[in-house]
Amino acid sequence: MAANKKLLVLPGDGIGPEVMREVRRVIDWMDRRRSVSFDISEDLVGGASIDGRGTPITKEVVAKALAADAVLFGSVGGPRWDKLGFEMRPEIAILTLRRELGLFANLRPATVLDPLVEASTLKPDVVRGLDLMIVRESTGGLYFGEPRGIETLPDGQQRGTNTEAYSTHEIEQVARVSFELARKRQNRVCSVEKANVMESGLLWRQVVTALHEREYGDVALTHMYADNCAMQLVRNPRQFDVIVTTNLFGDLLSDLASMLTGSLGMLPSATLGAPDSSGRRHALYEPIHGSAPDIAGKGIANPLGQMLSFAMLLRYSFDMEDDARLIERACTNVLASGLRTADVMGQGTAKVGTSVMGESVLRELEKLAA
Ligand code: NAD
Repeated sequence: MAANKKLLVLPGDGIGPEVMREVRRVIDWMDRRRSVSFDISEDLVGGASIDGRGTPITKEVVAKALAADAVLFGSVGGPRWDKLGFEMRPEIAILTLRRELGLFANLRPATVLDPLVEASTLKPDVVRGLDLMIVRESTGGLYFGEPRGIETLPDGQQRGTNTEAYSTHEIEQVARVSFELARKRQNRVCSVEKANVMESGLLWRQVVTALHEREYGDVALTHMYADNCAMQLVRNPRQFDVIVTTNLFGDLLSDLASMLTGSLGMLPSATLGAPDSSGRRHALYEPIHGSAPDIAGKGIANPLGQMLSFAMLLRYSFDMEDDARLIERACTNVLASGLRTADVMGQGTAKVGTSVMGESVLRELEKLAA
């Protein structure tokens, strides 16, 4: 039996607990069949924590996350908590975890699975076989830079300010993650900024180039302005392998890339911290979708984004590539068999709910592992 792997599971609100239930079944299956033992603890975050404990995330939960080898997060938020002040919003839970765990690199794959090629709004020929990874810097840049705020000017006008600022260290650490990732993929990195009009972008380009020359000369590096990148992602997305970019541009480009694949409910993500001297790093995995209040409680949410987030967790936190692939193949095979949740229905497919989709993945896992 492999050593215990400490996993903190935070289902959150809305469809979070519904899709997480299906992943827990897969984890139980792995416990039984794959000789992997997880030491799992589950806790409250977001609206569920506000209701039960009066805060979006308690210090105890943050401490548990710091002690865990990986965190599997569902989603938080919903109209019930929309009127609370900013500090009491459910979303504070995820911001707190990112800050406390030092999670600076957000990995968002955009992969088009063959059975879903028709689900994209782009032509099948453009997106078939798409497999790109956007690495977004997620703790610096415009969303965190100082000075910031809204001030009243002497003439009575108001002015809102945010600052885009990046240090050498911040750029290097996210570029390093991207080069390392590329080496395990197609060995290509495209670094994206606006060096033509922003000093922070110019520094970004210089630092990425210097790091490349110093340590990653074997990886093919290109640079692209963010506006061109948005256009290229729609024109010919398969030209990219790994894209590394700032917080702001990553926010926009990764949402754009997610729609190339046609479904929000299918896509996983990971957010990683820096490795310590033993190579261990904090990491949080979550689907890119939110808590989907419009369908919560109906049993129709697509659990595959959460399932594929767990596959990423196995790959990046536990180095369990074979098991990650097994789960990814099981999900693809179920979709290929024609079973679909409502969000990814196509011609000639059969509609199923969350738990039947989960059961079908389990059955497929049994078959593949037999
Ligand atoms: P959303 O992702 O929750 O939903 C957008 C649309 O996609 C909805 O129509 C929803 O039904 C559908 N959808 C999303 N996931 C699905 C799935 N797995 N299966 C089927 N359909 C799915 O985004 P939103 O409506 O903008 O936000 C709802 C709440 O979620 C808000 O409170 C928002 O703040 C929160 N949110 C949280 C996170 C997070 O926890 N990291 C991320 C995004 C949004």
